[in-house]
Amino acid sequence: DQVAIRRALISVYDKTGLEELAAGLHAAGVQLISTGSTAKKIAAAGIPVTEVEQVTGSPEMLDGRVKTLHPIIHGGILADRRVPEHMETLTERNIGQIDLVVVNLYPFVQTVASGASQDEVVEQIDIGGPAMVRSAAKNHAAVSIVVDPSFYPQVIEAAAAGGFDLKTRQRLAAKAYAHTAAYDSAVASWTASQFLDEDGDGVIDWPAYAGVALQRAAVLRYGENPHQQAALYVDEAAPAGIAQADQLHGKPMSYNNYVDADAALRAAFDFDKPAVAVIKHANPCGVAVASDDAEDAIADAHRKAHATDPVSAFGGVIAANRTVTKSMAETVKGIFTEVVIAPDFEPEAVEILSAKKNIRLLALPDGYGRNVNEFRQVSGGMLVQAGDTINAEGDDVANWTLAAGEAADEATLADLAFAWRAVRAAKSNAILLAKNGAAVGIGMGQVNRIDSCKLAVERANTLGVKVESGADAAGGAENATGESEQRAAGSVAASDAFFPFADGLQILIDAGVKAVVQPGGSVRDEEVIAAANEAGITMYFTGARHFFH
Ligand code: 5GP
Repeated sequence: DQVAIRRALISVYDKTGLEELAAGLHAAGVQLISTGSTAKKIAAAGIPVTEVEQVTGSPEMLDGRVKTLHPIIHGGILADRRVPEHMETLTERNIGQIDLVVVNLYPFVQTVASGASQDEVVEQIDIGGPAMVRSAAKNHAAVSIVVDPSFYPQVIEAAAAGGFDLKTRQRLAAKAYAHTAAYDSAVASWTASQFLDEDGDGVIDWPAYAGVALQRAAVLRYGENPHQQAALYVDEAAPAGIAQADQLHGKPMSYNNYVDADAALRAAFDFDKPAVAVIKHANPCGVAVASDDAEDAIADAHRKAHATDPVSAFGGVIAANRTVTKSMAETVKGIFTEVVIAPDFEPEAVEILSAKKNIRLLALPDGYGRNVNEFRQVSGGMLVQAGDTINAEGDDVANWTLAAGEAADEATLADLAFAWRAVRAAKSNAILLAKNGAAVGIGMGQVNRIDSCKLAVERANTLGVKVESGADAAGGAENATGESEQRAAGSVAASDAFFPFADGLQILIDAGVKAVVQPGGSVRDEEVIAAANEAGITMYFTGARHFFH
């Protein structure tokens, strides 16, 4: 089922490997036809080539908007060799068959990324290229379509060996359609971003949004469980993120690793200060910040984040918002960890952690950014929302209102601000207790707020390992006294949404929490405020909510 390659059409924007390809095809006896600058480059290399306009008798026009859009070209690609009438038509009209099409498209995505004007971007919407790709892919019964320069060596080899077999042509067709689909998705999402955002808030008016430019980047060993197949897709229309991270060490990332690593980024990257989050099953079991002036601040943040809940940190995913240093690596080395993700790693840190076979080290791509939009599949459709970032008015401490008690002192207010950012990363209902820039107890994912409060308090009071004074909290068992530290007393609390009743707050009060921040806005706010006043604790309302499901 091989089809000999006698005549090839080459029209490429990216001219990587073009000369070698043209030379190889020519040596295999393939006749070459080509468009404007592609033809020039082939001819300049001394390889015989016929310009498309000579073949069609119709010169390129409209600044190249119309080059290959001609029946002589598309007829030559699309004629079904198995249908005698098709072959008669070619003969009657004097149209030559085209057996191989090599195309790559105008750099649309790159032009958008460069910040070019609307007119410049529009000019980079390739028309004839995708048409040829689609024609050739449709007629894969006879025609081979190549869109990827890294495949040229196989093309040269096949041309010399009697052409590609059917299976290869089919696979090439499937890749080609994925390529044009991604290209058109990028065009559709850019066009929507320009013309379908009527209020200019950066969120596209979704009903006409055509989707995302997804390309499969990796097949994963399995999905959430071993019996589920899974793959990673990169969204070429989104800012670079975890899907493009550079893995410096370790086994391939698993499906759950990706989910947890992304959750870790959500938890650690809301902070301006050096911050570390430890994630298990998409929830934080440790979050902490360190002062910018601290010596080796990121190692300090990690020690504090680990101390939040050392039991759960076993087998966790760690995200740091600063370069991982040698000393942080030395601590992490002693803790069973699945993934460490950070903007970068000191070479010594990579060396130290690479001694562990099972840990995965991921460096974020340059220009890392959170997705502007979040998608979630529901049966029969998809939900789309703008990503939740800490940029609501109520996220700014300056806009909080004091709902009960005395205004907090500077240190307490800093802890409340920390807790408010950190609680956003925990699944609702979420309550986070904090002290000295570190979470000390997190209650998350409960179906009522009382249980989240109980969980936060219990974890604060049972998981803190009491160490001899002066010893390092993450220093390990040798310094532990055997008792657990009662950390809820004197801590501050953040609640991701309002307290619907006073009962949840009362649990925190009874545990000795001294200040609370929450959105407010419940019909029973008065009841909640009264409980806070009676206990003499401080309570702020933010007016903003951060549910996370
Ligand atoms: P060249 O550099 O050879 O002048 O042009 C190659 C590029 O033109 C390729 O990226 C190809 O996809 C694109 N192309 C080929 N035919 C047409 C056409 O008829 N219209 C437009 N707009 N682009 C075309």
